[in-house]
Amino acid sequence: MILVVNAGSSSIKFKLYKIENKTPVALVEGLAERIAVDGALTIKRGEDKYEYKDQYDNHLMAVNSILKHFKELEVIKNENDIKGIGFRVVHGGDKIVKTVELTEENKKAVEDNIKLAPLHNPGALTAINAFQKGLPNAKLVGCFDTSFHQTMPKKNYLYSVPLKWYENHKVRKYGFHGISFDYITHKSSEVLNKKLEDTNLIICHLGNGASMCCVKNGKSYDTTMGLTPLAGLMMGTRSGDIDSSILQYMAKELNLDIYELTDILNKQSGLLGISEISSDMRDVSNAALNDKNPKAISALELYTQRIAEYIIKFANHLEGKVDAIVFTAGIGENSIITRELVIDKIKILNIKLDSSLNEQNYEDYLEISSQNSDIKVYKIRTDEELMICKETINFI
Ligand code: ADP
Repeated sequence: MILVVNAGSSSIKFKLYKIENKTPVALVEGLAERIAVDGALTIKRGEDKYEYKDQYDNHLMAVNSILKHFKELEVIKNENDIKGIGFRVVHGGDKIVKTVELTEENKKAVEDNIKLAPLHNPGALTAINAFQKGLPNAKLVGCFDTSFHQTMPKKNYLYSVPLKWYENHKVRKYGFHGISFDYITHKSSEVLNKKLEDTNLIICHLGNGASMCCVKNGKSYDTTMGLTPLAGLMMGTRSGDIDSSILQYMAKELNLDIYELTDILNKQSGLLGISEISSDMRDVSNAALNDKNPKAISALELYTQRIAEYIIKFANHLEGKVDAIVFTAGIGENSIITRELVIDKIKILNIKLDSSLNEQNYEDYLEISSQNSDIKVYKIRTDEELMICKETINFI
């Protein structure tokens, strides 16, 4: 069995797979949360949901509680059933370019990158150490959101700031959502029946956080997020790209410091900031379509305009040889109006959606472009946990 873990500073999200004939089959998934507050654990097995209230003073107590309840539910017989644990780690910096076994040296790299991902890497590292104690015989593997993008050429990852900022302080574009982009790239090459190394894609991963990737010959060539996930597209609560002088200007206007202002760009901007209704696309699109709320309409316009602009930029990167544009993650997979408005805003390429296919229910993927479209468009469901599980199997 393989356990996939996505941990934060106060929570551990997990999914347990049994490997049957080399194929992962999901057994249970769940969430241990409120670590160091009180503690709450939910485990889902198919339609059944189990809830527990154990006290978690730290991550190790949460890990032990998860394992205890796995045994109670007879999901595992003992700890040794779990042969590998795959961790999602947000930032691998420029040293980690692929999935790695979490040796002491690689754990040190995760620690060194705390400076670059202060909100994400500490929780992952604490969880890695806790699982290492709780399951000492399992192989620990790290999958990094940044590593897929390490193939970007310098002209796409350098910022036009003093070069010393890059050389001495590692300021560059790293990009995120790499596990999802990796999964979608593999899936798309299967669906398109093309070799991975011949596959050119523009992938729009639109969840609460949102970013796009230009995949050239199966590898990341450019992406929209940057040093941090704040850059690029407009998101649920993040601004995406803005004029950086706004910070200095608003610092004076509002008498706030750089940390408070950056917090506003991360948590009170994007769909929430413009619609003044919600960060959730379902709420914003309902308000726009049903209530004709002008702020919600405006939010939807800004949101889709930015995506269209990046599609055009990435199509140029690919010299027009785009095998497919792929929409994925919560909004990309489900929001009919988002896909429709994005494609409608692209005027210099002939891309046409089939509106009934755009609306149609689907299992894991569906082509939604019409016959006369120059570029194929797909909606494909991403599966980051499955990607991490498959990567972890490779180490065992
Ligand atoms: P996260 O980045 O937290 O993993 P998700 O990929 O789950 O985010 O995406 C969350 C977003 O997906 C929310 O904005 C939510 O409104 C949107 N979403 C989910 N289902 C739908 C739907 N049926 N229609 C429109 N938007 C949806």
